[in-house]
Amino acid sequence: MNISVVGTGYVGLVTGVALSHIGHQITCIDIDESKVLRMRQGISPIFEPGLEELMIKNIEAGRLFFTTNHREGFKGKDVIYIAVGTPEKEDGSANLTFIEKVIEDIASNVENDIIVVTKSTVPVGTNHYIKGLLKASMPSDLKIEVVSNPEFLREGSSVYDTFNGDRIVIGADNEEAAKVIEEINKPFGVPIYKTDIKSAEMIKYASNAFLATKISFVNEIANICEKLGADVESVACGMGMDKRVGSMFLNAGIGYGGSCFPKDTKALTQIAANIDHDFELLKAVITVNNNQQQRLIEKATERFGSLVGKRVAILGLSFKPNTDDMREAASIITSKQLIANGTHVIAYDPIAIENARRILPSEVKYAQSFEEAITEADMVFLLTDWAEFKDVNLNVYVEKMNQPVIFDGRNCYDLDYVKNYSIEYHSIGRNVVN
Ligand code: NAD
Repeated sequence: MNISVVGTGYVGLVTGVALSHIGHQITCIDIDESKVLRMRQGISPIFEPGLEELMIKNIEAGRLFFTTNHREGFKGKDVIYIAVGTPEKEDGSANLTFIEKVIEDIASNVENDIIVVTKSTVPVGTNHYIKGLLKASMPSDLKIEVVSNPEFLREGSSVYDTFNGDRIVIGADNEEAAKVIEEINKPFGVPIYKTDIKSAEMIKYASNAFLATKISFVNEIANICEKLGADVESVACGMGMDKRVGSMFLNAGIGYGGSCFPKDTKALTQIAANIDHDFELLKAVITVNNNQQQRLIEKATERFGSLVGKRVAILGLSFKPNTDDMREAASIITSKQLIANGTHVIAYDPIAIENARRILPSEVKYAQSFEEAITEADMVFLLTDWAEFKDVNLNVYVEKMNQPVIFDGRNCYDLDYVKNYSIEYHSIGRNVVN
């Protein structure tokens, strides 16, 4: 089919590339000219494993195009996917400004029947609002349908997830439109779940809120384990063997970050508040996560008394491994607090340094390598579980650091393994080693 995808961020670009790969004619539209220029040359503006290769393949096959011009991008298309950002407003609710701008662009440039598919995460009721706006501003003889198709990909494995997802949710109030979107997606071979629009919108928020709840729950268990001398890894393993609990998302750490969980949990409490429902459970999940992000600083302060003048190496800046995305990363709050505490911070990340420079405090220095970062450090803060850090020979800490003290926010190392080295090792929900 002829499809355009508006917005070429983590969701839009992956969607556009994947849809072209299963045979559709795709034009991706973005307002960012420099991004579009790079994509036309086969350069991905984001780091996602496998994305650039797939993008080049489909550009060369003549199925994938990029433009900044909405009129050109919408010409001759049957379906338009919306994948622009829905960041949080000051009160935590979702900001729909980018969506509304796209609706204006569609209304003033599309002259044929159209199905608009919303990939962006939007509050319940937004797709009906979108349909209302389009109907009010486009010729009445045009057939306009809106379908909710929330996205569940995970940054860092988004290409894999698109072809191997657990489900594709299609929310529609019009059977014909639902069928078209189902046919578009069939070649992915992923189970398709069809429902009404509002339920589809809610599935996205409820899923993210549930996963965030699992993380905050295990983090609370971890904090209790620390005080009781139990081991959270062992507890999570024993819990996860029960299929009703499930073993995924039971990794204790310094909390969730990224572009989705923090904003989507806040947005859902707002969605509930708007209908006078106090979502107490989810509010507690958010509070637990905010507190959890302080855990490593608390542990370091408890251990050293004052952190003034200490040289701290931060390992890992992106919010999780295999991505360069810095949105709501633990490194932001941690580096700000370390700087405020008078430490010297030297940071390293395999991919995200360029993005980090724009966000972290100017006092933060950057190392070119893992080894350079830890050289003469008084302590290490491990914030992202990149394979490069997990697979390292622990001797390097002993050899390079001033004092081998590690505060690990991602439980990267097995305690029995660390015991063999003269490293003082603090992690989450487990006993201190050495
Ligand atoms: P992003 O910020 O990475 O990308 C958005 C893109 O849209 C940018 O490139 C921007 O230039 C472009 N844009 C903005 N207005 C435009 C317009 N009028 N016309 C054309 N392009 C425009 O966003 P993202 O992370 O891809 O997220 C997009 C949506 O998907 C959000 O609602 C998010 O909540 C949701 N989502 C994200 C993820 C994720 O892992 N990032 C996962 C699931 C769902």
